[in-house]
Parts: sequence; C-alpha cells; structure tokens
Amino acid sequence: MTDAWRAVPPLVDAHIHLFLDAGPSPRETYLRASGPERVETALANAERARAAGVTTLIDLGASFADIAGFREAAASHPRPLPRVVWAGPPITRRGGHCHFWGGEVASEADVAAAVEARIAIGAGVVKVMVSGGGLTPGTDPSVAEMPAPLLRLAVSLAHDAGLPVAAHCHATEAMRRAVDAGVDRIEHGSFLDADGRSRFDRGLALEMAARGIGVGATVISAVNTAERLRADGALANPGDVYAFERLEARRTNVARWLEAGVRLVPGSDAGVAGTHHDALLDELRCYVDAGLSTQEALRLAADDG
Ligand SMILES: [Zn+2]
Repeated sequence: MTDAWRAVPPLVDAHIHLFLDAGPSPRETYLRASGPERVETALANAERARAAGVTTLIDLGASFADIAGFREAAASHPRPLPRVVWAGPPITRRGGHCHFWGGEVASEADVAAAVEARIAIGAGVVKVMVSGGGLTPGTDPSVAEMPAPLLRLAVSLAHDAGLPVAAHCHATEAMRRAVDAGVDRIEHGSFLDADGRSRFDRGLALEMAARGIGVGATVISAVNTAERLRADGALANPGDVYAFERLEARRTNVARWLEAGVRLVPGSDAGVAGTHHDALLDELRCYVDAGLSTQEALRLAADDG
C-alpha cells in the first residue's frame, strides 16, 4: 500500500444505490422490504461509506418515498453520515430498467412532469435509463430503449434547472443517443452492439472527450458481478447472454477511456450484488491497474464540497 492510500482525502462516490443491500438479490430484497426496513438498510450503507472516507454519495436510483424516509431518519441519526445527492427515480421507459423505482415515462408530458418532480424534491442530478440493464428482466442492455426525443427533452429541462444528467447506457446506440442529447455523464458505457457483443468505439469516445462528457465506468461492480455469476451460474436477466463479456469490457475499457482523454467519474454502483458502499477505493484501484497513479485516481474522486 502506498502512502497515498493511507492519507485518503474526503471522497465522492458518484454512483451508488443507497437502498440496495449488495446481497445476492438486491432487487428482490428491496422489493420485499417495508419502508422502515429500506431506510434501515440505507442508514447502514451510509455509515459504511462514511467509515471508508466517503463524504458525498450520489444516489442514482431510489424512489421518492425512500428518499423522504431516509431524510427524516438521517436528521436525527446519532452518527455522522455522508452528504447524499439524489437523482430520485431514474427516468425510464414503461417497464424499462429499474422501473420499480417509479420513474416510468411514455410521453413528453410524462418527461416534463418527471423532471419537475425531481426539481421539487431537491434532486442534484437527473438519471435517465437509455438502455436496458442486467438488473431488470424484460429489458435489453444492447438496445437503446429510451426514445431520442424524450431523452433530449429530459436533458434540456434538467439543464434549464441547472441539473446535470447521468445516462445509464450499455448499448453503443444508447451512448450515441446520449452524446447527441448532450448528457453530462454516461454510466457504464459498455459499448454493446445490437448483437450483444462489446466493441469499444474510439470515435465515440473521442467525441465524448471533446464535448466534456464523462464516463462512470463502474468497474468494481462489474468485476464483482462477474465473479458472483461465475460462482452461482445464473443471470438475474436470463436474456442477458453476453453478460460476462459486457462486464469484462468495463474493466478492460478503462485504459481505452484514458487514452481517448475521457474524464473518469469514479462511482462504484454500490448496492448491486457483491458491491458494498465502501467499494469506492476498490473502484479507484481498478483505475490504477489501468495506468493512473494512485494520486491521480484519488484526485478524480476528491470531495471538493
Ligand atoms: Zn446503478
């Protein structure tokens, strides 16, 4: 361990899910839990992050009821907790990725109401699911599932309110759509073609770099998920046949992102299976494995308040 790891500055984990427990089936456990149980899980997760030096958490997926419950409990919590920046429910197509958080949209009017509702609860970022995801059966990671006009509207309304937009994208087509719409960050960025295979598109990466669009590569959760899938041999989404390839690409793409000059936005995706809320340093170590110095990796995640 280098000295830099010993003197870790206050850190931001820019992609977490406070109400998911990082157990073997986070979605199912969450859906079965009562409101108070969810808040209890979130408080424990927040304490775990704080103990690991994480002073700010950016939650990229939670329901409005979850957030209200947490805020109330946190106000009288006896121990220090990280500051939480909320996205609220990710904006997703009907039945789309993580629709259970309540962010489904099917029209421009829905999108306008959705952005308005996030502004009203004091959200600090807007999250949009542009492709399907491994956590949600019935969605396809290799397909751009959010229609471009709805995505563009979400971005423009969020920006009008001064809120950045984080776009969940596995499909390259979803990434292309997100770049064209002018999002601020792409989450995962797995470069999946329509056949479900992962192929890094350097041209698109260079365009992201030129436009200042960062990537939340969420490497450690991919590494942990792949390990778990290998151990129990089952996929949460049975249609997700190239899951391993997609997960492995998240790790191997870090050096490519760096080479293309794309800004890395460190986030662990904590809450998904096997990735706990103190996983940010493990995420940063993946960037060091890809060629950054320890200091450079820590600086990317530094909490400047
Ligand atoms: Zn996530």
